[in-house]
Amino acid sequence: MDSYDLIIVGAATSGIYLARKMAKKGYSVKVIEKLPEEKAGTKMDIFHVTRSDFNKFDIPCVHEGDPEWAFEFTDNHFSSPSNKYHVNTAAETVGLHMKEYVALMAKLAREAGAEIVYEASFKEFVFSDGVISGIRYSTPSGLQEDRCRVVVDCSGIASVARRALPNGYGVENFRIEDDELLYVILRYAKFDKEQMNTFWLNTKSWYAPFSQNNTEKIIGTGAACSYEKVERDAAKLDSVSSHGEFELIKTEKGVTPYRRPPYSLVADNFIAAGDAACLTKPDCGEGVTSSMVMLDIAADVLHAAFSQGRTDKETLWEINRRYNRAQGADFALVRAFLTKLVNAVTDDELEYCFRNRIIFNETFLNNGDVTPKDAVQTVVKIIGGISRKDISLKTIGAVLSGAGLAFELRTLYMNFPKSPDAYPVWVQTAEKLWKKVGKVK
Ligand SMILES: Cc1cc2nc3c(=O)[nH]c(=O)nc-3n(C[C@H](O)[C@H](O)[C@H](O)COP(=O)(O)OP(=O)(O)OC[C@H]3O[C@@H](n4cnc5c(N)ncnc54)[C@H](O)[C@@H]3O)c2cc1C
Repeated sequence: MDSYDLIIVGAATSGIYLARKMAKKGYSVKVIEKLPEEKAGTKMDIFHVTRSDFNKFDIPCVHEGDPEWAFEFTDNHFSSPSNKYHVNTAAETVGLHMKEYVALMAKLAREAGAEIVYEASFKEFVFSDGVISGIRYSTPSGLQEDRCRVVVDCSGIASVARRALPNGYGVENFRIEDDELLYVILRYAKFDKEQMNTFWLNTKSWYAPFSQNNTEKIIGTGAACSYEKVERDAAKLDSVSSHGEFELIKTEKGVTPYRRPPYSLVADNFIAAGDAACLTKPDCGEGVTSSMVMLDIAADVLHAAFSQGRTDKETLWEINRRYNRAQGADFALVRAFLTKLVNAVTDDELEYCFRNRIIFNETFLNNGDVTPKDAVQTVVKIIGGISRKDISLKTIGAVLSGAGLAFELRTLYMNFPKSPDAYPVWVQTAEKLWKKVGKVK
């Protein structure tokens, strides 16, 4: 039995990132990963990050020719449901091979001093005087036990450590249910002609590169609830898009959390992070860098907590407050608003908005300066749409109520309690608001 400052469960993008950060600060870190080393990071081939994320998160800047690098692109387009109207958007995006990226980060974490054990699967917590003091995990040579000051759950959707917490320990131990996932199918396709990178909001589908060759694209489609729904949306996309025949190279399927995170991410000697804490972006389900926003805060707070010699809930609480102010409040806003919007708006209404450039124009979608004149013109166009029955009053009502709820939630999360004392009352208010938001249908 060994003793560590930190034990991290899961050696994929979140776990390895935190391990490297904390080892660089001089702490003893152990990571356990249930998969063999060669399988770590293989749940999918490619993921995207924006170029600026490399500096922001101090991850190695990879370039063409590096094994982790797959492609880069800047152009992107939003498309109307019929594929007739497009709006250009731009972001410098890099495609990375997940397996190679995870292997590189694991190497750097080890060089910084972290210990990574593969084929080691979390089984249960060890408690001393009612608080977590270590874990038991199975390995090919039998059950092992280690002690630590803090356990961090980075085990993804399985959330094995968070779900093993006793009721009332401080972090919700819910299972991420099947209808709380975004189901994604990626079809790697070779076309006869070049295709634009495009996103269709109505079917949550996109064309994104998987190489520098513009005739090779991933046709991605995502939907809440089930793969059957994804397949229906993918067929709908195929019927309107210009892609015609294509050679299907391979298909990947995957799921990503699509629900609110636990209200508190910390308890005595425990932190939930990454997909295990549902920290994915509410508009697209991506979670690699959004998890890093929280992990950077966790690393800072842990450093201060270790220096004080206290890692109880009260000391780690700052992670909740800082995370919500940095990202959680905005994610709550977008999640609430999108849930109401997606459930209410019809394809015809969306088409009308694209045709009349309502919201779907370069100024709104590229974070440009939206002037009062732009806002007034948008309202006038919406009123015109209602009077001609292109947009229903029911949809407008649902969208406005969604916007109201979204802003209420944002304000609530921005004012997350300073200490655990006021937390139960805060949770009651949050519960009421999330109940009104509901789930994506
Ligand atoms: C199709 C698809 C495309 C996506 N594209 C993007 C994208 O382009 N950009 C982006 O940012 N995000 C993307 N995402 C989301 C992203 O993949 C996840 O948010 C991210 O990988 C989560 O990382 P994680 O380390 O928290 O969890 P995971 O990647 O799920 O890793 C958890 C690790 O814990 C291990 N583990 C599980 N149980 C145990 C146990 N009992 N003991 C020990 N270890 C255990 C697992 O083996 C695994 O290695 C995509 C998701 C899907 C499905």
